[in-house]
Amino acid sequence: MTFEPSARVESVPPSGIRRFFELAEEMDDIISLGVGEPDFSAPWAAREAAITSLEQGKTAYTANRGKRELRERIARYEAAEHALTYDPDEEILVTAGASEGIDLAFRALLDPGDAVAVAQPCYVSYVPGVTFAGGEVIDVPTRADDEFKLTREVLEAAGAADAEALIYCYPNNPTGATMTGEELREVAAFCREHDLMVFADEIYADLTYEHEHTSIATLPGMRERTVVFNGFSKAFAMTGFRLGYAMAPPEAITAMNRIHQYTMLSAPTTAQHAAIEALDNCREEVTEMTTQYDRRRKFILSRFNEMGLDCFPAAGAFYAFPECPWDDAEAFAEALLEDQGVAVVPGTAFGAGAEGHLRVSYATGMAELKEAMDRIETFLA
Ligand code: PMP
Repeated sequence: MTFEPSARVESVPPSGIRRFFELAEEMDDIISLGVGEPDFSAPWAAREAAITSLEQGKTAYTANRGKRELRERIARYEAAEHALTYDPDEEILVTAGASEGIDLAFRALLDPGDAVAVAQPCYVSYVPGVTFAGGEVIDVPTRADDEFKLTREVLEAAGAADAEALIYCYPNNPTGATMTGEELREVAAFCREHDLMVFADEIYADLTYEHEHTSIATLPGMRERTVVFNGFSKAFAMTGFRLGYAMAPPEAITAMNRIHQYTMLSAPTTAQHAAIEALDNCREEVTEMTTQYDRRRKFILSRFNEMGLDCFPAAGAFYAFPECPWDDAEAFAEALLEDQGVAVVPGTAFGAGAEGHLRVSYATGMAELKEAMDRIETFLA
């Protein structure tokens, strides 16, 4: 007997981001603008609620769908912040990060061979997730000329009309692009016309700097065909708590919970206690972190412009996506790391449409960011 990976696993390459982290780990004096994770710790009140729950011995599983108290808070929060109304009993599933929610949606709502249109550049888990679920991927490359927004033209050109579902993320990882409600209307119309399900990854919904986030599920005829994913990792800086949630009509949530109840039982209990507190009492910290990201965003965009690097004004998440001055972005990222000790990620790690770009995360303290920008300038000179 040998542990041969299944054909499905074999068909998925290891994450392109990890290689850079591994390289960076072996070196000294590295400034990493590579990771997609807040540099802040979770708000203290949330951490304290986790500690208190442990002191009180609250260490058992919760309901499969998550603690009702938490689902109620999520429903209230989403109604107040994003004009989304979901029933806490039937339409919300608490998951181990948005990651689990996305995986559940693929596995619970796709049949083998179903095609999913994946708007790209995108977060690295979508394409493998579709493959693991036995689905087929239709690449939908967005364009730098459209500031990486999804348009009807781009969807049509990619053949997305033949898909069962569309997955996209705005504010976007890796580009930092956002879409206004007006811009989303043509995407919504396309999905209605071709009867697509929509998987809307809204994990960065609260990290916008130019305009408020609009969820596609608030547009006419869209709530009934959309699964919205969100979580506590980004705005609340709670990545390690591994907590997120999915919101959708009851049929979708019931199907997703069918897998979740067997594979996860329930999302981490301690994290659920922390999340209740985060939603009740940590808005100020979220606002403060967002203000700091915005300051950093403006700083690095202006530095890239001064260096003559073309960088569209990313308006959300915590990434800038400048054009790479070399044809080969991987070679550039590797040389920058070796020569100046600054880690950035080549766009190619994020799929189609990302060629010739670099993802530069500004979830890093201002002093380090300044130093990193100076080093990039030295490297370019
Ligand atoms: N979606 C996107 C676009 C992300 O960037 C990330 C995290 N990098 C996730 C989902 C996963 O988030 P979580 O920690 O909630 O699983």
